[in-house]
Amino acid sequence: MRVAMFSAKKYERILLDELNASHKHDLVFYDMLLGPETVPLAAGFPAVSVFVNDSVDGNVLKQLAAGGTKLVATRSTGFNHIDVKAAKDLGVTVVRVVDYSPNSVAEFAVGLLLALNRKIPRAYNRTREGNFELDGLMGFDLVGRTVAVIGTGKIGIIFARIMAGFGCKVIGYDVRHSPEFEKIGGRYVAADGVEEADVISLHCPLMPETHHIVNARSLARMKRGALLINTSRGGLVDTEAAIEALKSGQLGGIAIDVYEQEAGLFFKDLSSTVIPDDVIQRLVSFPNVILTGHQAFFTREAIGTILETTLASISDFEAGRPLANEIAAP
Ligand code: NAD
Repeated sequence: MRVAMFSAKKYERILLDELNASHKHDLVFYDMLLGPETVPLAAGFPAVSVFVNDSVDGNVLKQLAAGGTKLVATRSTGFNHIDVKAAKDLGVTVVRVVDYSPNSVAEFAVGLLLALNRKIPRAYNRTREGNFELDGLMGFDLVGRTVAVIGTGKIGIIFARIMAGFGCKVIGYDVRHSPEFEKIGGRYVAADGVEEADVISLHCPLMPETHHIVNARSLARMKRGALLINTSRGGLVDTEAAIEALKSGQLGGIAIDVYEQEAGLFFKDLSSTVIPDDVIQRLVSFPNVILTGHQAFFTREAIGTILETTLASISDFEAGRPLANEIAAP
C-alpha cells in the first residue's frame, strides 16, 4: 500500500526500511508535520501515518478523504491529535499503537523524579565547571513519601509499582479502578487526594475532561513543595498556573517531557534560533524545572514495536483483516 509517512525522523526511516522488507509497502517519507498546509502532499495516498504533533483535525481529514485516504495510522498511543469522530463520519479508519513499551515511559518518569528531587542535572553542570559545592543540591528521601499516580492504566501501574519498590506510599486517581493497582498496595483517592502527595505523576490521556487537570485551584490544594511529573500530555497542565506556583514556592519543582505548545518546538533543533515562546523560556529559567522534548517513549524496544505494529496494521487494513489497534469513534 502507498503510505505517506509524516514527521518521519531519520531513526525511523532506517528501521522502517528494514521492517518493511516483509510488508512491502510503498513508503514515502516527509519530515514535516501533517497539517492544513501540508495535507496536499497526501493526495492519492490510501494510507497516511502520523505522530503526536501532527494535526489531524476535521478540516485536514476532509482533505485527506477527498484525496483518497482511507487509513490514518498514528505511531503513538495517545490520539488527542486526531478527530476520530470526524474520521468515522468521513469513512477514514484510524489505528494507533495500543501497547508498545509502557515501561519506557514509566521508567523515564522515575528518572525525571530522581533527577528533579536530587538535582542531578545541576550537579552534572557544576562538576563539569569544576564546582563541587553541595549548596542548593539537597533533595529528600523518597522512602515513606506519598506518591500520587493520576491515571492508573498501563504506564501508571508500572510507575506505581516502581515507586512502591522505593518504599513510597502510592495513592491513585482514575475514573476506572484497577485491581492490579490495589494489588501492589495502591490506594484510590478522590481527585482532591493529591493534597496528601509529596509527588504527583500524570499518566491519564488528554481529553476534554482532563484538559488542565492541574490548574491554579488544584496547585493551591497541593502540599507545599510537592513535585509534579508530567510524561503524559502537555495539555494536562495549565503551564502559566504552574509558573505562578513555582514562583510562590507552592510547587517545589516540575519535570515535564511534554508541553502544551510543543507542536512548533519539539523534535527540532532550534538551538541557533530565537525561540518566540515566552512561556517555555520562563519555565526553563527556573532551577527547579526539568524539561525534556517528548522522549519518554524513546527506547530501542519501544520504537521497534511502534513501527512494526504500524506496518502490520497497514497490512491488515490492506488485506481486509480485523484491526486489533483500531480506535473506535466516541
Ligand atoms: P492507558 O489507556 O493504559 O491508561 C490511561 C488511564 O487513564 C486509564 O486507566 C484511564 O481510565 C485513565 N483515565 C481516563 N480518564 C481519566 C480521568 N478523567 N482522570 C483520571 N484518569 C483517567 O494509557 P497508557 O498507555 O498508560 O498511556 C497514558 C498516557 O501516556 C497516554 O494517553 C499518552 O498521552 C501518554 N504517553 C506519553 C508518552 C511519551 O513519550 N511522553 C508515550 C506514550 C504515552
